[in-house]
Amino acid sequence: MTAPSTESALATESAPNAESAAAASAPAVDVFDGHNDLAWYLREERDYSVEGLNDPAVSPFTTMDQLAAGHVAAQYWSVYVHSSITGPDAVKATWEQIDAVQRVVTAYPERLAFARTAADVRAARTAGKVASLMGVEGGQQIDESLAVLRSFARAGARYMTLTWSTTHSWADSATDEPVHGGLSAFGREVVAEMNRIGMILDLSHVAPTVMHQSLDQSTLPVLFTHSCAFGLNPHPRNIPDDVLDRVPDNGGVAMMTFVPSFVSNARREWVDAGEQGTAPEVTVAQVADHCDYVRERIGIDHIGLGGDICGVDELPTGLGDAGQYPTLFAELASRGWSQTDLRKIGFDNAMRVLDAHEDAYTAFLGYADDAPSLAAGPGASAGAES
Ligand SMILES: [Zn+2]
Repeated sequence: MTAPSTESALATESAPNAESAAAASAPAVDVFDGHNDLAWYLREERDYSVEGLNDPAVSPFTTMDQLAAGHVAAQYWSVYVHSSITGPDAVKATWEQIDAVQRVVTAYPERLAFARTAADVRAARTAGKVASLMGVEGGQQIDESLAVLRSFARAGARYMTLTWSTTHSWADSATDEPVHGGLSAFGREVVAEMNRIGMILDLSHVAPTVMHQSLDQSTLPVLFTHSCAFGLNPHPRNIPDDVLDRVPDNGGVAMMTFVPSFVSNARREWVDAGEQGTAPEVTVAQVADHCDYVRERIGIDHIGLGGDICGVDELPTGLGDAGQYPTLFAELASRGWSQTDLRKIGFDNAMRVLDAHEDAYTAFLGYADDAPSLAAGPGASAGAES
């Protein structure tokens, strides 16, 4: 399928109005981003130092000032570990990643606030700080232990991506050979436990069979924290149309990512051909094409953003770091998206999914929404939970 034109994508939308015109000039829209790999970047490039995170020479894709310029109000920081790290070593490495995120938050208390619950996110937003949650990226990181899963959730990992790029012992990946026909029996136990404790299912990276089986089973809305639309660019990491079509009934959100080969057909083909010659440019308009496509297919209430910033070496022109979300909002506004639409894709839809998990998660933690929570930071929460 070729990309729909901007005109056809907007055929069902109302004409641009004064509100959207205003958004085009100053689209200051809060962002609840689905996926940022700063912690892995710190591990690989900085020996886990959290110093200097306001210097683009130290951290080119995510600085505190960039987060502010991007109006990032809430962030799922990925606590990813590479799937070559397995067994107990994966659990250890995940805890090192969690420690890194907690150390970043502690090092920049004026800019970031640790958050586990939806109530924490609202409190951070009121305080003008980036609500900092976490997401585990790869089911192998629990080493087949529901206790480990729960310990990650208790520490603030609010979603788990069921696989990363390789199939593991209980779920098939979109980019590896299938072994289980989707989820194994234990994989279905993991899904049930995640629902029970209010940990969000992330269906980026997983095989379409796992997407469908998870949607069959889940009693709560899911996220795709960093994917694009397969219907626009048939990359195995993107979301097939028949999966997208099921998202509204589930109440979930497909968060569009900025990964060049997921966004652009030409870039994917260039990668598949061995990356010979100059890489095709990927643009903010192409990211907006995915937003239009998904909006047209499943509606404005089921789209979000998950840039995968720090997770790739290069980002689209105009979206090169965590400060440039307004460029995308300006592009969407120029296509007729209203300020309300931009707030939904930027923040509100992602917040709705977190809210839907609040009762289960706070019951799991053992305290109610209105109880004193995490204002004092991760140290206080760890003490309260131990
Ligand atoms: Zn990923």
